[in-house]
Amino acid sequence: MSDISSLEKYLPELVHCMKCHICYSANWQKLDDWRILCPQAAKFGYESYYAAGKMELARAFLEGRIKEPTPRLLEVLYTCTGCGGCREQCTELSGLKIDHVDLYEKMKAYIVSKGWGPLEKHKKFSQSVAENHNPYVEPHKNRFDWMPKDVKPSSGEEIVYFVGCTSSYRQQKIAQATVKVLKAANIPFSIMGQEEWCCGSPLIRTGQLDIVNNLASHNIETLKSMGAKTVIFSCAGCYRTFKEDYPKLGFELPFKPRHTTQFFLNLIRDNKLKLKSLPKELTYHDPCHLGRHAKVYKQPRRILKALKVNYHEMPRNTTDAFCCGAGSGVRAAYPEYSKWVCKERLDEVKEVGASVLASACPFCKNNFVETLKDFPDLKIDVVDISELLEEAL
Ligand code: SF4
Ligand code: SF4
Repeated sequence: MSDISSLEKYLPELVHCMKCHICYSANWQKLDDWRILCPQAAKFGYESYYAAGKMELARAFLEGRIKEPTPRLLEVLYTCTGCGGCREQCTELSGLKIDHVDLYEKMKAYIVSKGWGPLEKHKKFSQSVAENHNPYVEPHKNRFDWMPKDVKPSSGEEIVYFVGCTSSYRQQKIAQATVKVLKAANIPFSIMGQEEWCCGSPLIRTGQLDIVNNLASHNIETLKSMGAKTVIFSCAGCYRTFKEDYPKLGFELPFKPRHTTQFFLNLIRDNKLKLKSLPKELTYHDPCHLGRHAKVYKQPRRILKALKVNYHEMPRNTTDAFCCGAGSGVRAAYPEYSKWVCKERLDEVKEVGASVLASACPFCKNNFVETLKDFPDLKIDVVDISELLEEAL
């Protein structure tokens, strides 16, 4: 994955891209009002930060024109949140068959393999994952401290809940709500306990691939030994990593990965959950990992419909959703820029008249909650769909 020659297959597209620029005005063509989808383009404005700028960098790497990267080059690569907005628009409008995000991640892996990266703030991800099995420098033994006393998972069940680092250490209410909803529906489930390790997403997104195979192998083998047939994820990032990245690394999944929004919608359809209405003025933010990367758009909205919320769709939604600004190590390395992107999204929430912002990823929730501390006047409640379901029980 870190071999720059793997980008050669993209060479014709790289040349095309420099003469194209369709995606710069894509939203102008698709929406009534003009809005940029690329957070980098929205913030920095210069062509080098757009998809085309990174394509030109890829070409320069391939042609051996970059002997050592400048700080600005690193900034161009590492302020990309990997949201996939450019890929969506490019595929639709220019018809190119290129995986932009794969290309950017390969460039970061190349930079790391040359010793030019990652950024200082990203180094602690890999150190902490190696030492603590999580990127947050938290003790591994505390991983399941969030578990409510009245919920007892069993062992040997075919359904296993993979909690993920962010719900385990930063947004524990999401994990608590998830197990309470499973219990309410009488779904027997197991958890991995101390054998659950970081899925590797923060390392893959920042180009640090050294231990990713170990993480994937450990998680998959443990789940296999537990007899898992379905593994459910409340973290959009973990879900995408299992579903998309592990197979790319050559691993076969001996179980079905399911995001909680997919799993919970089936429970609602099977009448396993009796839910009250929640007449909240609410909008939904598509997490990039769940939406553009895993193509899960309908299930969260159908759950919200079942909850009878007063729904307000934001102008940038589904395939054209605007990123929360947290992904690919951006929150850690560029907190002010990350907050700027997040505030753009929060303004869109207010614009449509919503006071509740629902999402389906603890990482998105974390960024919204942290950013709102700087803007208390916005008065927006941020909740995960699992928490809404718990409230409606
Ligand atoms: S639409 Fe695609 S090919 Fe055209 S400029 Fe954007 S990323 Fe490049
Ligand atoms: S992945 Fe997102 S942030 Fe990166 S260039 Fe594409 S649209 Fe911009």
